[in-house]
Amino acid sequence: MPPITSDALVLRTYKLGETSKVVVLLTRERGKLRAVAKGARGPRSRYQSALEPLSEVRASLHGKQGAELYRLGQCDLLRSAFRAGGQGLETALSLSYFAELLDAFAQEGEAEDAVYRLAVAVVAAADSGCHVGGLARYLEAWLLKLHGIYPPLDRCAGCGGALPAGGLVYHAAAHGFVCAGCVPASGPLLSDAVRTFLTAIFLRPPAEMPAAPAEAAVLEPFHRDLISRHLERDLRSHRVLRDSAAGLRG
Ligand SMILES: [Zn+2]
Repeated sequence: MPPITSDALVLRTYKLGETSKVVVLLTRERGKLRAVAKGARGPRSRYQSALEPLSEVRASLHGKQGAELYRLGQCDLLRSAFRAGGQGLETALSLSYFAELLDAFAQEGEAEDAVYRLAVAVVAAADSGCHVGGLARYLEAWLLKLHGIYPPLDRCAGCGGALPAGGLVYHAAAHGFVCAGCVPASGPLLSDAVRTFLTAIFLRPPAEMPAAPAEAAVLEPFHRDLISRHLERDLRSHRVLRDSAAGLRG
């Protein structure tokens, strides 16, 4: 059977036996899948840095369609995330968060071209020096939107009416932003500046995103709650990033 060739982002790897690794790939053609990289832990591995998280590769995969585990053949590095990862601790932690987030949202064996293009664009923007804090909000917002979870910014979740210009009031029980006639709401409140920032996120590629206003800090716990509720679990990186930020302050 001829191998499948697909562009892919490496999400993570784990050890298999003495010398091999299992690679979790987000492929353009087949969505998320797993492949055995034989000898990948050996000193003369043919794969080298092609298996670092968030590397973009062109991979040949052997095995039946829909297999639980493919075998990785040729794997050529298209873009390394290494340079971005070398920009300091915050960037390195953020990149591993991006990989965990993509891994959590991506469907096994189900191609999601929009998710793939989003992921590649966000990694490229990090590589070119865009601030990773803003990129994290960008990636979260888009993953939530592409999975139908991000609440519309222009419609009241209570009555369906148009939301007037200005700040947004979220109501958890309604899973959306509500108008003045549909309060009281659980919160949080997103200021006009934050709404403008979110609107820009949904209109522009990540490399052209405006700088986040100071009030956009509210989006971090807001997105975290939406993500945890959707995935029905917390992500490990959320805790690591929080601990690291506390450590840097303390
Ligand atoms: Zn309403």
